[in-house]
Amino acid sequence: MMTDNIKSLPSLTETVRAHGLGANKKLGQHFLLDMNLTDKIARLADPLAGHHVAEVGPGPGGLTRALLLRGAQKLLALEMDERFMAPLAEIGDMADGRLEIIHGDALRIDIAGLLPAPRKIVANLPYNVGTKMLINWISAKPIFWEQMVLMFQKEVAQRVVAQPGDNAYGRLAILCQSTASCYMAFDVPARAFTPPPKVDSAVVVLEPLNKPFQDLKTLGEITAAAFGQRRKMLRGSLKSIAKKYDLILDDWLSACSIDPTARPETLPVKSFQDLVLKIKKP
Ligand code: SAM
Repeated sequence: MMTDNIKSLPSLTETVRAHGLGANKKLGQHFLLDMNLTDKIARLADPLAGHHVAEVGPGPGGLTRALLLRGAQKLLALEMDERFMAPLAEIGDMADGRLEIIHGDALRIDIAGLLPAPRKIVANLPYNVGTKMLINWISAKPIFWEQMVLMFQKEVAQRVVAQPGDNAYGRLAILCQSTASCYMAFDVPARAFTPPPKVDSAVVVLEPLNKPFQDLKTLGEITAAAFGQRRKMLRGSLKSIAKKYDLILDDWLSACSIDPTARPETLPVKSFQDLVLKIKKP
């Protein structure tokens, strides 16, 4: 059986030792070597049989093994660090042609062009570029993924799922929740990684809404202005946007039933979407 082949590989700890794979901090490398944990993450993406998965930053391949063991039909592993090509190839040798490894910067790789639908993205993302990758994937047109299971540092994960009134509520929550339903699956303590990072991590799951909000660019612009001056009332922080789009600020806010003295963290996602729509159709 193919899964037995993968199980016969040396342990991840042995693989890391045999290939002399020290972590490179510049590439945000913190490895998960506990297969119970990688399986717990992969399980969030069930069912995997019949699905195609892109994994960004497979590193030594713990999550890669788990995704293959859970039956991913095809797994596209995108890794920037050449040192991992050999250990990943060892997994590929046991995967019956289901693993394709690409050496390169995932920010520059067109996942949809390389992997047929239905697609999922599952990754323990590098901290330094994780948020940028997330924004790229939620801004893609059309949305090319049917689910994303992503590990971030916990503070970023909280900013994805935050609700109005939460400290973490802001631009990232509004952009993500305008595209997908988002939930926090579980925390992963720093000590679970080799080497341990300074902060804890968490896994979030995103599934596209039936009708994702289309104009994330203007939504990003409005939320950046509103939350850039969090403590200010909206009539102060949105002044420059009203000017840019030639709108009378009070009329614009009133058309969206928004109190000009409100602060941004009190408004639901829908109010920010209304602000965008009323720019286009006053
Ligand atoms: N998935 C592995 C695990 O859980 O043990 C490694 C996770 S580590 C947090 C992030 C991985 O992303 C590293 O292997 C790093 O080399 C890789 N990486 C960093 N920047 C990348 C980029 N722009 N494109 C592809 N991989 C990248």
